[in-house]
Parts: sequence; C-alpha cells; structure tokens
Amino acid sequence: MNSKWLICFDADDTLWDNQTHYDRVEEQWLEVMRPYGTEQFLHDELFKVEKKNMPTMGYGTKAFCLSLIETALKLSACTIPASELQRIYDFSTWLLSMPATPFDGVTATLSLLARRHALVCLTKGDLLDQENKLQRSGLMQYFDHVEVVSEKTPDVYVSLCQRYGTDASHFVMVGNSFKSDIDPVLRIGGYGIHIPFKRMWAYEHLDEYTHPKRFTIDTISELPALLETLTAGNADS
Ligand SMILES: [Mg+2]
Repeated sequence: MNSKWLICFDADDTLWDNQTHYDRVEEQWLEVMRPYGTEQFLHDELFKVEKKNMPTMGYGTKAFCLSLIETALKLSACTIPASELQRIYDFSTWLLSMPATPFDGVTATLSLLARRHALVCLTKGDLLDQENKLQRSGLMQYFDHVEVVSEKTPDVYVSLCQRYGTDASHFVMVGNSFKSDIDPVLRIGGYGIHIPFKRMWAYEHLDEYTHPKRFTIDTISELPALLETLTAGNADS
C-alpha cells in the first residue's frame, strides 16, 4: 500500500545548492576582514558567534548576515569603517535572493514520486526565506505540504507522522545532513536516506553510524528504485 508511505525531503543542499553560496559569502567576508586576523582565526571567531547566536536567532540567512556584522564589529573593536559594514551587508543579504536551481535529477524524481506518494518538504531556517527559495526552485508544485521549523528534532518528526496518520515505520526522510535529516528519524523508527553534499557547515557535523534503516545514495535519481524496494518490503506492515 504505497499510498500510506510519507516521503519527506530536506531542501538546502538536498534539492539545490545552498552551502556553496554561503561559503562564497564567507570568503568575501574574509577578504574584508583580512586586517583583523588570519583566515583561520577569523573563520573560528565567526563560528563562535554563530553558535552563540543559534539559541536566539536560529538557522538561516538573516542570522548569518547578523553574525558576519557582529563578528566584524567585535574583532575590529567597533573601528571597522561603515563603508566596509555596508559591503558585508550587501554581499550577505544577496543570499536572500540567491539562485535555488534544482540539482540534476531533482525535478524529474519529484515529479515521478509525487504521482505515487504524499511528499513533504521539511526545512529549517527563516520562514520567508525558505518559502521564497522553494518558489524560485519551481518545486513547490510537487509537495503536499511544506514545513519550516527552527530545529529538526525527533519530536518534530513524530508530529509530522501524526499529522499525516503515518506510522514512523512508513516514514522516509531524504536529506544531506546526517545530524538533522537522518539521526533523528532513525531514532523514531523511520528510514533515513542520506544524500551527502560536497560541502557541510561545521554546525551540522555529527559522527555518522550505520543502521539497518539508513541508506546512502549518490544522487536523488537513485531514490525511486530504492523506495520501490523499501515500500515493497513493507507493503503489508
Ligand atoms: Mg540540508
């Protein structure tokens, strides 16, 4: 009974490239901040500020922009010229309109799967920013539901399954982050399909482990065949 399955997708770095754009903005920031320390020092100080801000600002572009500015003020002891702050503001807020071009195979795969399954997009970050990226991607039409959350905890996944009347044993999460997309889903008894991306933000790091319900694929185009196997093996459960 394939219709009982709930297939959920992460967005950033699963459906489109996000981290590469963030990395490029950080490189521009490092260039501006060169007078204030080595590249490694600046990078580490920025990460410290991002971690400090996480409980109140959460994930997403706006938090990143504010952390870039806060770190610049901190490391320059508030002596950085306003013109340099303006540069940081301009190249970092560009992230709010960055391209959200689907990776190869994403559109065809979602189109195929949407005919057979309920598809949900579960992403974390700024509500409006994430919604705008989905609109720019052209992928909104394939999802029955889109949810933007502040964190991807096991409870968030349990609530999602409850809303759809889906048992966790019929829940599949597809994403690039082992910490956010795979580990919490395995903990509630669901399937985690990991599609690693070439770049990973340090905050998303978590030591990975093997699990009978964890699968790793290279590209999203491999997903339909894998789902076919999973759903067939649990057709009556
Ligand atoms: Mg992601």
